[in-house]
Amino acid sequence: MPSIIEKMQSELALKEIFEQATEYAFKYINNIGDQDPFPSPKAIAQLSHFKESLPTEGIESTEILELLHTYGSPATTAQTGGRYFGFVTGGAIPVALASKWLTDVWDQNSGLYLMSPVASTIEAVTETWLREIFDLNQSVVASFLSGTSMAIVCGLAAARYRIFKRANWNFNRKGHIGGPAIRIVAGDTAHGAVIKAVSLLGFGIDNIEWVDTDDQGRLMLDQFPKLDDTTIVLLQAGNVNTGSFDPIQEVCKRANEVGAWVHIDGAFGLWAAASSNLKHLTRGMEKAQSWSVDGHKTLNTPYDNGILLCADKEALHGALQSSGSYLAYSNQRDGMLYTPEMSKRARAIELWATLKSLGKQGVDELVTGLHMRAMQFAEQLRASNFQILNEVVFNQILVGFEHNDNYTQKIVEHIQLSGDCWVGTSTWQGKLVIRISICSWATTSDDVNRSVAAFVNARDSLTA
Ligand SMILES: *Cc1c(COP(=O)(O)O)cnc(C)c1O
Repeated sequence: MPSIIEKMQSELALKEIFEQATEYAFKYINNIGDQDPFPSPKAIAQLSHFKESLPTEGIESTEILELLHTYGSPATTAQTGGRYFGFVTGGAIPVALASKWLTDVWDQNSGLYLMSPVASTIEAVTETWLREIFDLNQSVVASFLSGTSMAIVCGLAAARYRIFKRANWNFNRKGHIGGPAIRIVAGDTAHGAVIKAVSLLGFGIDNIEWVDTDDQGRLMLDQFPKLDDTTIVLLQAGNVNTGSFDPIQEVCKRANEVGAWVHIDGAFGLWAAASSNLKHLTRGMEKAQSWSVDGHKTLNTPYDNGILLCADKEALHGALQSSGSYLAYSNQRDGMLYTPEMSKRARAIELWATLKSLGKQGVDELVTGLHMRAMQFAEQLRASNFQILNEVVFNQILVGFEHNDNYTQKIVEHIQLSGDCWVGTSTWQGKLVIRISICSWATTSDDVNRSVAAFVNARDSLTA
């Protein structure tokens, strides 16, 4: 029996498992157009192959990859194909995936410049590109995080640091108790990740001053409370049901006048700013203090790609500071000053590769394209007498029915089983609705035609 060191040395030398992984990956890519958007019952049943207790002895690595290929791959949702519209997910730009493969081999830790000059340099460059694409001030800095959920946590932590500091209160040392009260203002359709951040940071969900929203989920200005410099306002660029945008410009104006902090959650919707046709939706966004946005949704980078943009670098670093006798900060970018994690992979590289591959024009085309396919989807559904509940301003479509929720559920199940496309449900204004999210670059006009036909078939078969 070889030792584990000998086993691994020989695997690296032979490269067989890497070639095997590549071969499986290419098979997956080649079939993705034909794969059902959601795994079959058989594929799901076969996941039983993974359910075992921890082995005492390891097995051949080739068998591990074979297991993943044989039973893992068929049980994936075909998110990188063109007919998966469940949740707000996003596909994967090929060069972003390829860059991820290559840089996985590098296995860099992007915590400090000293740990990875290349990761630090590419993070710094990507930060300047993001400022440019979102048209933000030179003082804005970027944190590269696991997703928007963490980006919101960090944005709110920076806001809190700043508000307490203004009141001469060292939050990191003293915490909340005895300090100034912070007010949180949010629309009543705020995303679950925003609410999670509020509770995780100890602000308390019951302390949120909720603002009523209109029939598209946009916060209503006539209901808006008076702000002050202890307030954090949480705005939405892209409602997760309707895709709608809060009145960003007017709220930022009111907040700026009194020194309130505005955080804009634009997990998927902030990218509207990068589309010449849709830019109007985010008008005034540059006047906020922090923004959360995902690479892994609208921009189609692979997962684990969230971004916080923050106009107050001192507050961000203040909130996330850490110390240790061995830490050696540099005069270059040290990634860990921008994130809660210390060790973290160099995730900004996929983002950089995506932006470099698309360019400013390509990003515009990508984002505009998702909107056009959403418009096509909605128009064709309307032409077939389906009821579209929202103004399709971005990539989200809500389909409603006169019948009860049970009927809606049956239609959805029929569509899901068809294998033509996969859509999910949501609750909108008290009723079950079908929610369609166009998030993948891979969705073509033909994919939309086929998906609309699946809606029509589902309705016909229920009528019959
Ligand atoms: C997806 C989403 C989030 C959470 O982002 P993750 O990347 O999944 O952590 C927050 N807000 C909105 C509007 C979203 O769509």
